[in-house]
Amino acid sequence: MTHLFEPRLVNDAFGDPGLYCDFRDERRALLFDLGDIAALPPRKLLRLSHVFVTHAHMDHFAGFDQLLRVVLGRKERIVLTGGPGFADQVEHKLSAYSWNVVHRYDVALDIEAREVSPDGGAQSAAFSSRSRFERREGPAFAPNGDVLHDESTFRVRGRFVDHGIPCLAYAIEEKAHVKMARDRIDALGVSPGPWLRELKQAVLGGAPDSTPIEVHWRDRDGAHAMTRTVAQLRHVILEVVAGRRVGYVTDLRHTPENIATLAALLQGVDLLFIESVFMDADAAHGERKSHLTARQAGTIARGLGARAIVPFHHSPRYEGRGEEVAAEALAAWSLTRS
Ligand SMILES: [Zn+2]
Ligand SMILES: [Zn+2]
Repeated sequence: MTHLFEPRLVNDAFGDPGLYCDFRDERRALLFDLGDIAALPPRKLLRLSHVFVTHAHMDHFAGFDQLLRVVLGRKERIVLTGGPGFADQVEHKLSAYSWNVVHRYDVALDIEAREVSPDGGAQSAAFSSRSRFERREGPAFAPNGDVLHDESTFRVRGRFVDHGIPCLAYAIEEKAHVKMARDRIDALGVSPGPWLRELKQAVLGGAPDSTPIEVHWRDRDGAHAMTRTVAQLRHVILEVVAGRRVGYVTDLRHTPENIATLAALLQGVDLLFIESVFMDADAAHGERKSHLTARQAGTIARGLGARAIVPFHHSPRYEGRGEEVAAEALAAWSLTRS
């Protein structure tokens, strides 16, 4: 089964955290966290439409400069989303450079920094190379509950976990979609047209069988129209494919509140990227550093009913022992799985 996007860690499990979600058919991508991104070639950075940052510790945000370096003069727009103080942090990053020539570049760059806070507040700031990246008020930005970004084919949800500071955990959710049977459309003697989208939306939205669909189409004989019900057209749909849900969870304390937050965000997630910073033997250290151990991560993943997990963000103290760390997470996750 093909998915809308392919998620892949930017670095190995000891490198800076980051998840690159590649929407191959659309030549665009999303990035979660912006630490060391040297492993991403310019062509991959240029594909980014949106970047979501969990929190602004250096290992999650120090790559901002490199991203800017690559997209400046080559890309028109990029949207960054983060937690409390994020718009200021982007502003400060931008104000660290001299911009006396940038307004003359052929391709102007617009950066939008969206910021959400744990109390539900949201704001956005805009920075344009045309005006030397001076901060302006950004376009209206109002998340719908925990939905921070919504498109017709996918959405990104985010909720705050506690990492000593507020830190966003993310869910990237493909929406359900339908596959059409082209031969059955042809057999109806009609051509594809906007009615197909109407039918898809009706089926995905659970509309009643009697719902009328105006079938308009155009061929070499001219324009045609007929009215059919959802029930009469349903057979042109080959299957309804449930959307895949991917979780990106990193930098959090092991607390009941955090576990409850993750349950609200990621219960039944298909693929979970989850930090596994320390080993269980060093759990006290993990607690001091506000991070999960591999075993805690695996246990959380099991509680969520995650169908697959990828442990990452291992502490450098285990360099050379990555398999051991991952094995601890996987063992805790698979404990009750048959
Ligand atoms: Zn951190
Ligand atoms: Zn970190």
